[in-house]
Parts: sequence; structure tokens; C-alpha cells
Amino acid sequence: MEPKNVMIIGGGIAGMTAAQELAEAGLNVDLVEKSGFLGGHAIQYTCKATSECLQCGACSVEKMLKDVVENDKINVHLSTEIESIEKNNGYSIKVKKSAAFIDAQKCTNCGICYDKLKENNVILQGYSKNNTPLYAINTSKIDENKIVLKEVCPEGAISVSDKASSENLTADAVIVATGFTPFDPNRKSVYGYDKFPNVISGLDLERIKRQKGFLARPSDGAEVQKVAFIQCVGSRDENLGNLWCSQVCCPYALRTAESLKHQNPDLDITIFYMDIQNIGKSFPVFYESCKNDIRFIRSIPVDIFPVENDNLNMRLFDEAEGTPAMEEFDMVVLSIGIMPNSENKKLAAQLDIALDADGFFANSDVLDQTSTSNDGMFIAGTAQGPKSIAASMAQAGQAASGVLKYVGVTK
Ligand code: SF4
Ligand code: SF4
Repeated sequence: MEPKNVMIIGGGIAGMTAAQELAEAGLNVDLVEKSGFLGGHAIQYTCKATSECLQCGACSVEKMLKDVVENDKINVHLSTEIESIEKNNGYSIKVKKSAAFIDAQKCTNCGICYDKLKENNVILQGYSKNNTPLYAINTSKIDENKIVLKEVCPEGAISVSDKASSENLTADAVIVATGFTPFDPNRKSVYGYDKFPNVISGLDLERIKRQKGFLARPSDGAEVQKVAFIQCVGSRDENLGNLWCSQVCCPYALRTAESLKHQNPDLDITIFYMDIQNIGKSFPVFYESCKNDIRFIRSIPVDIFPVENDNLNMRLFDEAEGTPAMEEFDMVVLSIGIMPNSENKKLAAQLDIALDADGFFANSDVLDQTSTSNDGMFIAGTAQGPKSIAASMAQAGQAASGVLKYVGVTK
């Protein structure tokens, strides 16, 4: 029997997990990723271990990425988008590849281009050293930096005249694993994300920790002494029309707070919340233990305004005391929620599958969250709705099983 082909759209943790499972079952996989790097949002998160593993899942993303790039049965297409898809005997899919500009065969990941041009944001760096190349060129900066780009690479791996191209692929089945778009914190203007340097998002926190190794204030680089997390930013918000719970931001904030406290026991941490979302069997015990180190206040702050030294004053209503309150912090972290991917509408129309009322991909069978109205097409991960790294991997495994059953391959 001819080997079966599968296309997976989205190279985040769900897409990579499904790709690896299907390749292990002997199928050929085309893994299509829109950005220049594999790993999606999940690869951006740092390990949260204290003296023990806090089950954050960050290491499993890195391991999966390594397995995928080393697997000969998975053909990774970076900077690639679906142009059109037609169902006949299987699927005929036309993909559009943006110009790569860096030749993966020649690039040695030496980092010289990044070191020389990172100031002006001309070269972008991926999060995993297992991404090859680890660097990509910021296409909006090419025109003004053509001369320096032509000369910067000692291997001759950069070509500024690279052009976009199209390719026709075929697949017996398709998995949609296009992930999510993080909530834009500027939409909650009362928190001043775009105005006050020490108001950051959870994703900013991850970037700072990666770059500096500790939680440094963007305004002056000093180590943070008193930090607040605000939960449910963008989620469970009637005014925004986002009624869903993003599921991951409570465990994320608690694990991050514990890991920061482990690194700096003098750090003063407060979490402002509506309800703490309990996920998993061991979570209630973990939450109780966090109360020894972290102050929890059941209130969502009204607004933030700056005071001396770029510190931040927060106004809130203290529900326990029944009074308005004000408190100063030297950093505020906004726990931003999981939104439907901004490209979902366009992709749903191309694939002829439905979105739910919130804009995530809808499962057609209530008992099977990977199902779509188009048999042969499956969904996995946060494309279908908010979920953790572990839950995304589990659902990707189910989608892979659905594909195997559909194409008639037994493991
Ligand atoms: Fe790759 Fe060249 Fe950049 Fe080195 S300088 S990382 S070889 S593109
Ligand atoms: Fe809010 Fe927590 Fe749900 Fe996130 S996980 S939306 S912070 S309740």
C-alpha cells in the first residue's frame, strides 16, 4: 500500500505532537507553519521548576520540537500559508511560501547577523536552539538594510533577493492546529500597558526572564521587589464580549509566582483574581501551598496610574474589607487570555469548516473535540478552544488517532 500523506496546519505544540505521532505510525507528514519558527506560543515559556518540577510542560515542548526536526518523515514548511484547498480523492492543497532570505542549508546558527543587527530589530531570533535556522529576517526591515544584510553573513547564507513561491501538495487527511492569538493588553486601556513601562504581559515576563535570567523592570533594569499579577485580562469580560475562561492563566500565574519566589525569597507577590481556575487533580493542593508564599486578593483592579520612579499605583475595591483601596507596586503583570487566532475566519472559509460562536474552530461531534463537518479534517489544540500544553498534546494525540482510523492505518 502507498504510504499515506497528512497535512498539519500549524507548527505549535499540538501540530508538532500530531506530526510526530503520525510519522511514528509510518505516515508522511507535511507540517505547515506560517511563521519562521516551529513551537508556537508554547515554546516561549520558560521552565517553572522550583526545588521540584511544577509540571508546567515547557520541557516537553522543547523535546517535541527536537524530535520533529530530526524526524525524516516530517517535512517542515516554515513561513508557509494555505493558498487554496480542494477535496477530491483526498486533498489538493496549494501553499504559498514567503521568501526565506536565510538558506537553512548554509546557515550555521552562528548568531553573527543577530548580534550585529538586533538593535534595529532587523534579525529575529527563535526561542529554541533546535530551530534551524534559529534566525529570521524581519521582512519589514529589508529594504532599508539591504547593503548591510548582503555583507553580514560569513557563510553567504543571506540572500535579500529571495522570492516567494508556491507549491502543490496532496494529503489524505488534514489536521488544523493553528493555535491562538494572545489578548492584546492595549484593549484594556485602564491598565496602561502601552503607556507605563513596568506594566507587562505574561509573555513579556517570559522574554525578560530569558534575556536577563531574572525579573528585571523594563524602566531601569532593576530586579523587581514588589510585583502584582492581574488575572482574567481579556477573558471572562462581558464588556469585551469574551465570556470564556482561558484555563491556563491561573496555573501559569501561580507557577510563575512560585518560581520567582524560589529565585528571590524576598520578592513580594500579590495575585488579584476573580476565581482561581482549578485544573487537574493535584492543583488544589498546589494552590493551598502557594498561599504560604503569595498574597491572594479577590478583586480585579479598577485602574493603574504611574507614581515616582516608574512605580505603579493600583486602585481596587477590597471585597474582603468592603472598602476602596490603593496600593503601590514596582511591576504589574497582566495575565492575558487566549483569543481565537485572528486568521480563523479566513482559514475556516478556505477549509469549509465551521467556527463556534466565540470564533474558535467548532467540533461537529460533541463527544469528539477533534471532529469537523468535513470528514478527513480534524482539529487539535487551542485552535478548538483554550487549553494547557498537556491538554493540547492529549487532543493532538486524539486527532492523530482519528486520522489513522480515517486513512485505514493501524498502529
Ligand atoms: Fe546563519 Fe549567517 Fe546569521 Fe550566522 S550570520 S546565523 S550563518 S545567517
Ligand atoms: Fe481568569 Fe484564571 Fe480563567 Fe485565566 S484561568 S481566565 S485568569 S479564571
